[in-house]
Amino acid sequence: MNGKILIAGGGHGGLAAAYHLAKNGADVTVLEANSRFNMGWNQPDSVNLNCFELADIPVPLSYVVKRTPITLCVGDGVTPNISQVVPEDGYTVMIERKVLCQYLVQLAMDAGANFIFNTKIEQPIILGGRVCGVQTDKGAFYADMVIDSCGINSPLRRALPAKLHIERTLEGYDVLHTYRAFYSKNPDCPPTEPYKVYVFEDGTVGMQWLITNEEDTDVLIARFREYTDADTVITIEKMKHENPQLGDTLLRGGHVVDIPVRQPLSVLVADGYAAIGDSAFMTYSVKGSGVGYAMQAGKILAKTIMEDTESFYTANTLWSYQVNFFKEIGKNASIIALGKVFMTKLTTQDVAFLLKEDIINQKMMDATATENGLVELITQAGVSVIKDKMMRFFDNKELRNKVLNVPIWIAKLLPILSSLPEKYDRDEVKKWADKYDNFYDSIRSDNAENVIDEELI
Ligand SMILES: Cc1cc2nc3c(=O)[nH]c(=O)nc-3n(C[C@H](O)[C@H](O)[C@H](O)COP(=O)(O)OP(=O)(O)OC[C@H]3O[C@@H](n4cnc5c(N)ncnc54)[C@H](O)[C@@H]3O)c2cc1C
Repeated sequence: MNGKILIAGGGHGGLAAAYHLAKNGADVTVLEANSRFNMGWNQPDSVNLNCFELADIPVPLSYVVKRTPITLCVGDGVTPNISQVVPEDGYTVMIERKVLCQYLVQLAMDAGANFIFNTKIEQPIILGGRVCGVQTDKGAFYADMVIDSCGINSPLRRALPAKLHIERTLEGYDVLHTYRAFYSKNPDCPPTEPYKVYVFEDGTVGMQWLITNEEDTDVLIARFREYTDADTVITIEKMKHENPQLGDTLLRGGHVVDIPVRQPLSVLVADGYAAIGDSAFMTYSVKGSGVGYAMQAGKILAKTIMEDTESFYTANTLWSYQVNFFKEIGKNASIIALGKVFMTKLTTQDVAFLLKEDIINQKMMDATATENGLVELITQAGVSVIKDKMMRFFDNKELRNKVLNVPIWIAKLLPILSSLPEKYDRDEVKKWADKYDNFYDSIRSDNAENVIDEELI
């Protein structure tokens, strides 16, 4: 491994890759727009403990805490809330984002990675179809390989030539516009569920949470449609009505940030280029969590790069990153993305009905307490279980058709995922990517008016 590796943007996946590569003697440089201590947002976040282990990143032990059980609220004033039971071994890493960034930066620095801060990447430098560097506000940086860890709006991914088959932009329902803020906590309020998640609360597709901490209250409001200041005002007022502990003073945060919530990018690599983290849409899309997957992908990518002993770093030699990513993470992430598409088709009444009829139930809520629990539950549910659930809303035809779409989608998606080419071939990869992308495009338009054969039930 002789080549020069440039990590564009200090995203979590890029930092994990920098750590592993530098530890193994690679020449790695991270280019980051912010100053060192200004990386990351002013908020704490939860990252699954096992993601650190799977990413081979030392666990920041002082931030390991027991998971807070989530309570699902429909917010229609009628449907009772349903609370998750967190398993005995249900621990997570709850860490301030800035602290996590510093932790990963320090690990990579100690391993020997170079960092250049305050440098804004503008576009890729492409010569003869190969990415061979980046243009920044401080000039050009050339490298044998560029890892795109610039996040959802990466100026690299967006400027790649179309012939590389790497999707450059995101569709409406693939982006969650997310407001996060911490407010004061009113004293002497009655005890409440500590972590309430409201779905479809304002009648449009979206969610919000209210987490009641010792010192403050943590509010998140996420919408697929354009987020407005009115969303904050109206939602906070409604939340206050039901949760008197939510105070008036904004303590920190209060920004809207976009999260990619969709299936991972269909093609992750090109000659001299690999995308990682939010830049490659690697989130657990029904929750919008992406730190864990990004770090895990960092380890997979570093291994692929280290195995390229001749330092070719072509789409061909980098392809095993894509194959192993999809085996270890992408397959589950793609199935979970179906859950997100399904959610975008539901109404408040639908969710209330699903809870009332025990179709969304305690078992499902508990399954969401672990990273792969929900996928395991859905894929292991036998036909009889699905049939039994379907019978409970036989007469609700519109909702029945929406729900029936999910097993049909899974049945269509699994063979696509298993047909990912093991070896790189430009035409075969393009064919596969078209199949994968077209499948998600097609299910976006599947709706309740679809006629589903009654025989299927
Ligand atoms: C409100 C909110 C809450 C969230 N909560 C969680 C959670 O609890 N758990 C979880 O796992 N995930 C959570 N996420 C999602 C998570 O933040 C992302 O999925 C995760 O950060 C992975 O993205 P990334 O590291 O690839 O990119 P980012 O975190 O976006 O990092 C990109 C980096 O690249 C730098 N950069 C960007 N553009 C340029 C440029 N032009 N030049 C140079 N540098 C550049 C940025 O400064 C940044 O350092 C949350 C997101 C939001 C918005």
